[in-house]
Amino acid sequence: MHELLKLDATEVARRVKAGDVTAVAVTRAVLDHARATEGRVGAYLHVNEHALEHAAAIDKGDKSGALAGVPVAIKDNIHVAGQQTSCASRILESFVAPQDATVTARLRAAGAVFVGKTNLDEFAMGSSCENSALKQTRNPFNLAHVPGGSSGGSAACVAARSAYLSLGSDTGGSIRLPASFCGVVGLKPSYGRVSRYGLVAFASSLDQVGPFSRSVRDAALCMNVLSGHDDHDGTSARRPVPDYTAALRSDLKGVKVGVVPGYIEQLPNREVADACTRAIEAMRALGAQVVEVKLPNADHGIAVYYVVASAEASSNLARFDGVRYGLREPAASGIEQYFRTRGAGFGPEVKRRIMLGTYALSAGHWEEFYGRAARVRTLILRDFDRAFEGCDVIVGPCAPFPAFKAGEISDPLSMYLCDVFTIPASLAGLCALSLPIGFDASGLPIGLHVQAPAFAEDSLLSISHALEGALKQQVDRMPKIA
Ligand code: GLN
Repeated sequence: MHELLKLDATEVARRVKAGDVTAVAVTRAVLDHARATEGRVGAYLHVNEHALEHAAAIDKGDKSGALAGVPVAIKDNIHVAGQQTSCASRILESFVAPQDATVTARLRAAGAVFVGKTNLDEFAMGSSCENSALKQTRNPFNLAHVPGGSSGGSAACVAARSAYLSLGSDTGGSIRLPASFCGVVGLKPSYGRVSRYGLVAFASSLDQVGPFSRSVRDAALCMNVLSGHDDHDGTSARRPVPDYTAALRSDLKGVKVGVVPGYIEQLPNREVADACTRAIEAMRALGAQVVEVKLPNADHGIAVYYVVASAEASSNLARFDGVRYGLREPAASGIEQYFRTRGAGFGPEVKRRIMLGTYALSAGHWEEFYGRAARVRTLILRDFDRAFEGCDVIVGPCAPFPAFKAGEISDPLSMYLCDVFTIPASLAGLCALSLPIGFDASGLPIGLHVQAPAFAEDSLLSISHALEGALKQQVDRMPKIA
C-alpha cells in the first residue's frame, strides 16, 4: 500500500498546502488502491472519472481550503452535481443530480476531491447495507461480514483506505453503526447543526449528514467545514460554529462520564462488554469521573422510531411517482403508472416502511400510533436532559455485537434491533459518535458510543480525542484488504 494512504486527512491537507505532495499524487494513490480492492470490498457504486482533473485544478489553484487535495467519498443519497444520486434504488438508478447538496458544496469550497458515490441500504433503510438494490458491500476487516448500514459503503471505503473521509447520513444510527462495524470514527451531528439540503429525505425530523474518518481530529476538521446555518434548510440552526479542532484536548480532568447501569452488563457479546469496560477505565485513568445515569424511557426507542421514521418516510417517498424523477413504468392511466413504477422501483424493505408509515398516519389511527410515539419521544428527550445535568457525555456500546456475517440476519425485526443503542440519541436530536476501541478475537472492530447534549460537538470531539489517544496502541490496525 502507498505510504500516503497511511496518513489521515489532517496530515494530507497539511502536506498539500505546504507543497510537500500534490493533490494529484494523493488522488492517484487513492484511485489505484480503490481499483485494487474494490472487487472485494464493493464500497463504491460509482467512481468519479473527473477526480484527477479536479485534483489538478486544486494543485494549480487555491490550496488554502481546510481540506485541500483530500479525496472524499459521498453516500449515494447526497447530491454531487453531475453525478448519480441513486439511493441504491432501482427507482433512482438513472437519476443525475442537477446541483450540489450544501454539504457537498462546502467540501468542494474547502478543496476536497470527490472520489465517488458510496453504497447504502436502499433509501438509507437498513443496518447492514444488504438492502442495496445495486451492490453488496463487504466489511474490509472480514469479507464474509457486512460493513453495517445504512452508510456501509462510506464506512467501508474509509476503513479500506480508498478515501480519507466520507459523508454518510444518520437517521437512527446509519453513520455510527457502520463506523463501529468497520473500525472508523463516525459522527452524527446534532439535529440542525449540518444542512440537510441536497440529502434525499428519509425521515426529516431525524436525518443528519455527518463524517466518517480515521481519526477524531479528522472528524473535527470535517465538522468545521460542514457545520453552520443554511438558508436552504429551515431546520438548520443559526448558532455560531466553534472551531472543533481548537477544542481538542488530551486529558479528561474535570470531565464527568455517564454510564447507564445494565447496558454493558446485559450485552449478548462478552468481547464488546469487555472492550467498553476497558475504554471506561481508560477514561478514568485520564482523569474523568464516572457516574451512573438513568434513561428509563430509552427502552421504547425502537418502537417510537419505527412509527416516526416510517410515517415520515411514507410521506417523503410519495414524490417518487414515475412522473418527476427516475424510473417510469408506462401504463394506460396515471394511477396505474404510479402503482407499476413504485411496484417495480422500490425494494421490499422500502415497501414495508411505506406501508407501516401509511398505516400509522391513516385516519383513525394517527393518534394511536404517531401521536403516542411523538409523546414518548419527548419523554426520551427529557431523560437525556436530566442525565446531562450530571455528566458531559454518556458512553456505552455502539452496537450489541461486532459485524455479523452477510445473510446471517434475515428477519426485519432482528435487523431493527441492531440500532437499539443508537436510536435514542437520534430521537432526542443529540450529537453522538462511534469511536474504535478495539477488536474481538476474530479481528472484527468494536466501537464505543459517545453521546453529548445537542450542539455540544466541541466537547463530544474533545473527550473522544483524549480517549482515542489513550487507546491508540489497541486500535491502530489495518484491515487485511488494505
Ligand atoms: N437502521 C435504521 C433503519 O433502518 C437506521 C437507518 C438510518 O439511520 N438511516 O431505519
